[in-house]
Amino acid sequence: MRKVLVIDQQVFSRIKLKDSLSSEYFVLEANNEKEAVGLAKTNPPDLVILDMEMLGENSSSVCRKLKETRETKNIPLILLYTNEQRDDIANGLHSGADDYLTKPFNPNDLLARIEIHLRTRDYYADLRKIDLLMLLELTEIISVTRNPKRILSIIVERMIETIDVSRCSIIGINDFGELLVIASSDLPENKEIKLNLKRYPEIEKALSTQRPIVVQDVKSNPLMKSVRENIKDLPDNSIFVVPIVKKQNVIGTFFLRTASPLKDGITDRIFKLCQIIASISGNALENAMIFESMETNKKLLEELSVRDSLTQLYNHQYYHTRFEEEFSRAQRYDLPLSCIFFDIDDFKKINDRYGHLTGDMVLRQIARLIKKLLRKSDISARYGGEEFAICLPNTGTDSANQFAERLLVLIRELSIQQLKGEHVTVSMGTSTYMNNNVASYRELIQLADKAMYQAKESGKNRICCANILS
Ligand code: GH3
Ligand code: MG
Ligand code: MG
Repeated sequence: MRKVLVIDQQVFSRIKLKDSLSSEYFVLEANNEKEAVGLAKTNPPDLVILDMEMLGENSSSVCRKLKETRETKNIPLILLYTNEQRDDIANGLHSGADDYLTKPFNPNDLLARIEIHLRTRDYYADLRKIDLLMLLELTEIISVTRNPKRILSIIVERMIETIDVSRCSIIGINDFGELLVIASSDLPENKEIKLNLKRYPEIEKALSTQRPIVVQDVKSNPLMKSVRENIKDLPDNSIFVVPIVKKQNVIGTFFLRTASPLKDGITDRIFKLCQIIASISGNALENAMIFESMETNKKLLEELSVRDSLTQLYNHQYYHTRFEEEFSRAQRYDLPLSCIFFDIDDFKKINDRYGHLTGDMVLRQIARLIKKLLRKSDISARYGGEEFAICLPNTGTDSANQFAERLLVLIRELSIQQLKGEHVTVSMGTSTYMNNNVASYRELIQLADKAMYQAKESGKNRICCANILS
């Protein structure tokens, strides 16, 4: 039975306290400073309750003495105050007490407080000296390191140095509810991967229950049944997942897999160490995820700024940027590069007859067709109102014209309900860079544009190929 020392000058008050505690604890009693400190040294209790009312002035001195004496300073100390003494509470806590209650209190409150303090003490009792040193070092690093991802990487590094694990990761949940491995012992720093939650039932369970999940043996635990096939080649190891909670929300998990079938699996020591690690990782993970969300938004904005909102094709400006890059590459490696330009024929009439919204629909359908036909390396843009441009890297004249022909025919064959059987046609111009025949990408675009006008002038619904002398 655990021992609680009650220091109270008044017998009646001591008896009352003893009554409340004796079902759970062995109660030691003292009624003055000398007796209390002496008893605490010779027969150390697990916790001390000090009534600040009866000892008067002396009570502060008892509190300080207990917290200054080597043998007693780590024993949790709860102070009891009367309502009139509220102003003294802060002083009591400053002199080292761990907690307080004001009288009258519900005995169950006192029992609950005692339990919390004993639990915290037990927490650290199983940890080894190297664990405590590691934790101390980590808290120092955390306080001086600004980059949250760096902090999480260091936490992971120190963990694998301290315990025998094959993988240790810190996983965050992003704004879309996806799991991102922010730091992991088997990932280079700054590289992130997304986890498929279906493959990690233990993580799923830790997130849904908001509780730590221990899987002592991955091969036999029923929780792992759905992924048994995927893990059949892994050694028989144990897994431990601790949710990382911030302001009552689970913001991620700490994940650990032991290196070998550890004799004792996830021991109390590992359990406690990981829980502490998960709790000290909270701030850094929260910051890393805020950073992550900012990066994603930045990328989204960047992406939005280069695309045309109606068709989602690239815009004029971005087309130029990419075309210039492709042109430099073609020059450097002496590769062909083609440009296709096209403009919808009599688009004004389509707008006039069927309305602007139908016109927009035609633009979107053509864009969809282009996207379907292009290779990944090709670049397409809505160049202007109803003008489109396509850049085909590593493509010579014949292939470019074949592609243009195909596109011309497919656009003509588009069946758009709102056009009531009418079809749209386009006029195209193509130009190809090869053997240094043009000096700049702008020139190549202008040549395709000019060829497109020739197609218009010679009757529309056709392709003209720029004739470039090399
Ligand atoms: P041409 O065969 O000579 O190209 O004749 P056209 O009628 O297509 O000629 P023009 O280039 O003069 O007209 C283009 C029209 O495209 C004018 C404009 O109303 C329409 N247009 C431009 N942008 C949009 C758009 O975003 N949506 C719609 N619905 N129409 C647009
Ligand atoms: Mg036009
Ligand atoms: Mg037109």
